[in-house]
Amino acid sequence: MSVIILIELNGSEVSASSRAAITAASELSDSVDALVLTRDASNSSSVSQLSGINSVKMIVDDSLDNVNVEVASKLIADVMSDYDYLVAGSSTFSKNILPRVGALLDVQPISDVCEIKSNNTFVRPLYAGNVMATVESSDETIVMTVRSTAFEHSGDGGSASVETISASMPSSSSEFVSLQESESERPELTTAERIVSGGRGLGSKENFVLIEQLADKMDAAVGASRAAVDAGFISNDYQVGQTGKVVAPKLYLAVGISGAIQHLAGMKDSQVIVVINNDPDAPMSRMADLVWQVDLFDALNELNAYQV
Ligand SMILES: Cc1cc2nc3c(=O)[nH]c(=O)nc-3n(C[C@H](O)[C@H](O)[C@H](O)COP(=O)(O)OP(=O)(O)OC[C@H]3O[C@@H](n4cnc5c(N)ncnc54)[C@H](O)[C@@H]3O)c2cc1C
Repeated sequence: MSVIILIELNGSEVSASSRAAITAASELSDSVDALVLTRDASNSSSVSQLSGINSVKMIVDDSLDNVNVEVASKLIADVMSDYDYLVAGSSTFSKNILPRVGALLDVQPISDVCEIKSNNTFVRPLYAGNVMATVESSDETIVMTVRSTAFEHSGDGGSASVETISASMPSSSSEFVSLQESESERPELTTAERIVSGGRGLGSKENFVLIEQLADKMDAAVGASRAAVDAGFISNDYQVGQTGKVVAPKLYLAVGISGAIQHLAGMKDSQVIVVINNDPDAPMSRMADLVWQVDLFDALNELNAYQV
């Protein structure tokens, strides 16, 4: 079985979800290659040092500075003539590219794989994680994303060979214009050990600052429910849930969040769940290890005033 991982780089750093993809791919084959689309050939060094990678295939071109998904999909589809599997970590990056690769190869991508049963049978969530479906693929080439919370993150320590693939850049009907990234000193949401997450109960963007203050105090990432995002309390980069980020921190503190199934789908694997809510019947409380049934403003003011 020949397997290639699509590597997502943040600058020159390999993303946590790509590291999870390596672990998943190693269950499919003893020999796993990595594919990197980049403008900067020196990025190969962080990838070649990954544990579990046999060979790094690089496509280097100035136009790959900000990956145009149409171009990327065509390049990847060409590379797949040598491989049986394309594996990527589940992230905004791969969600944008892998369905396009699937369409070009005329195969059905399998998303959010949580368990690999055999070389063509996988477990993945359905209905916001309420059902875990076992799916069998009959495609010759398997294109799949894996949940980064379901697989260990491969570390460094490897010394893979690096090969630059010469490829002519395909034409595209779209072009990159600009990228607006939210900048934060806080831990990254999907890999944070602690998350303080706020919901509609906060009532306003001004009040949501209380969540950010507590997160800073706890060296935690900030999360939010979709209702908080839709109300404009915070940008949608911070949304946790079915249509947001999937997280599994050691501690998830949910403040003013009711616990709709779509929210639970994104955080139910957290190790310890603490809920601050004044409604004793909030569904979130059923998931919780600890419920503080109180007005959230009293709780946040008390916690923010607490001297560590
Ligand atoms: C297709 C689809 C996808 C979706 N994807 C997502 C997703 O990815 N993530 C997500 O979060 N949602 C998602 N949703 C929306 C989801 O169904 C809920 O509407 C949303 O999660 C509710 O957010 P909330 O808990 O903040 O708000 P609410 O349900 O309004 O809950 C607010 C909570 O705050 C409490 N509260 C209010 N005031 C106080 C106070 N002063 N003190 C203490 N507690 C207080 C209330 O008791 C209540 O429990 C999706 C919905 C659909 C249909």
